[in-house]
Amino acid sequence: MLMLENSLLELITMTSTSLPPDVRAVMAHALRDETPNTQASQALNIIATNIDMAQDDEGPICQDTGMPTFIVHTPVDVNQMVIKQAIRAMVAEATKRGKLRPNSVDSITGKNSGNNLGPGTPVIHFEQWEEDEIEVKLILKGGGCENKNIQYSLPMELEHLGKAGRDLAGVKKCILHAVWQAQGHGCAPGALGVCIGSDRAHGYDLAKMELFRTLDDVNPDPVLAKLEAEIMAEANTLGVGPMGFGGQASLIGCKITAANRLPASFFVSVAYDCWAFRRLGVRLDPSSGAITKWLYRDPERPVQRMTQGEGFPLTGREVTLTPPLTEAQMRSLKVGDVVILNGEMFTGRDNVHAYLMKHEPPVSLQGAALYHCGPVMLKQEDGTWVTKAAGPTTSSREEPYQAEVIKRYGVRVVIGKGGMGKKTSAALKEFGAVYLNAIGGAAQYYARSVEKVLGVSLMEFGIPEAMWHLQVHDFVAIVTMDAHGNSLHADVERETGANLEALQEA
Ligand code: SF4
Repeated sequence: MLMLENSLLELITMTSTSLPPDVRAVMAHALRDETPNTQASQALNIIATNIDMAQDDEGPICQDTGMPTFIVHTPVDVNQMVIKQAIRAMVAEATKRGKLRPNSVDSITGKNSGNNLGPGTPVIHFEQWEEDEIEVKLILKGGGCENKNIQYSLPMELEHLGKAGRDLAGVKKCILHAVWQAQGHGCAPGALGVCIGSDRAHGYDLAKMELFRTLDDVNPDPVLAKLEAEIMAEANTLGVGPMGFGGQASLIGCKITAANRLPASFFVSVAYDCWAFRRLGVRLDPSSGAITKWLYRDPERPVQRMTQGEGFPLTGREVTLTPPLTEAQMRSLKVGDVVILNGEMFTGRDNVHAYLMKHEPPVSLQGAALYHCGPVMLKQEDGTWVTKAAGPTTSSREEPYQAEVIKRYGVRVVIGKGGMGKKTSAALKEFGAVYLNAIGGAAQYYARSVEKVLGVSLMEFGIPEAMWHLQVHDFVAIVTMDAHGNSLHADVERETGANLEALQEA
């Protein structure tokens, strides 16, 4: 392997597995400040444990390693095609090594390329500059938070906030609305990159570029610096909290830029990133391809550990469940209960749910636990599989199917993140089932609870979308929707909406 390729592989591996120091610092702060013994603090404890595990094992922090997006600056005489080739080769290599999940799906056929290469993936932006070295920055931003990106076209009416006009007050309403609408779906606490102005396409681009700023920097523009500070203060009074469970930490960063716009347009584009805010960079020697310097991290300084070693504190009040599960067991659970699952569970996300609408399941789902998860799996030489990363995916995507799956096949436990809607809630109540919120992004934490991969069905959908049969031990999750019609998600959405309104009146 060439030195350049080596350097790029190291960049990809470190970005996927080691959270940058600025993100660690704010997450440590969030952990310290959260009210103890709340669902929010439980979520942050698991997140912190997960961050340490990913660092120790060099495993992906989150199983969704996102759209690999590279920003490359080169001196004028450097051949950019060589760099592009090396990036593509090392993205494929990192995927083969389980550092990236195969995430590149043909939008027409639905086929996963299996190596993260395909039309439009990875994303590589090149720019020339006056410096002597090459700079490569990388961000891995997953689908859950990507789906919570939002663009506003001012003037407009916003839920809970009223009219947002073409001025800074209107812009501020949009940004606060962006935090509120994400709830737990984008694995809060999140970070925002914002662009005021530009056109639709470039506005989103510039918003995402703001995520390359460190979380602790101060905007050189005093007007934007003030706006960033105000958003940070006010968004963290909304009460969305980690995973949307309610709590103190809703936002860990807000970085805003402004670009000129057309007279007829006024867009506010928001790129929402999750707590698993993975971005790093390197400077490279153009002649050798060797790393001369890391950006965002100092390899000489010890990595700040997030936990004191105790991990998720168990209280003894947890409810242990082993599928197949009964209706009576489900009806005895209530929102807020912490559940420990042992035994077999099945993964299933978008393709599996669509499949189940037209076909019988490949295994019996009577009394089963169905996990919304697209894991990173590696096949061993002996043909067996190991789970490299296995956190939950956003459940709301399965809302059109879930009630029917519960009704038809007798699923008792649905596990995911971000909660589900009214149809699912009604089905949980009618048929006696519960929704468990696992902690989004805690891919290493949950991978460790997988004792064995018992099998796999529907592999034609690709690794993340297949139905994996997992034997788990001590799989911890929280009941956030119970069999009595209660939903923590609905409660938090209502309360935070009221808080948003109160902010406007203050
Ligand atoms: S932490 Fe959550 S939102 Fe972020 S990439 Fe992972 S699953 Fe997606």
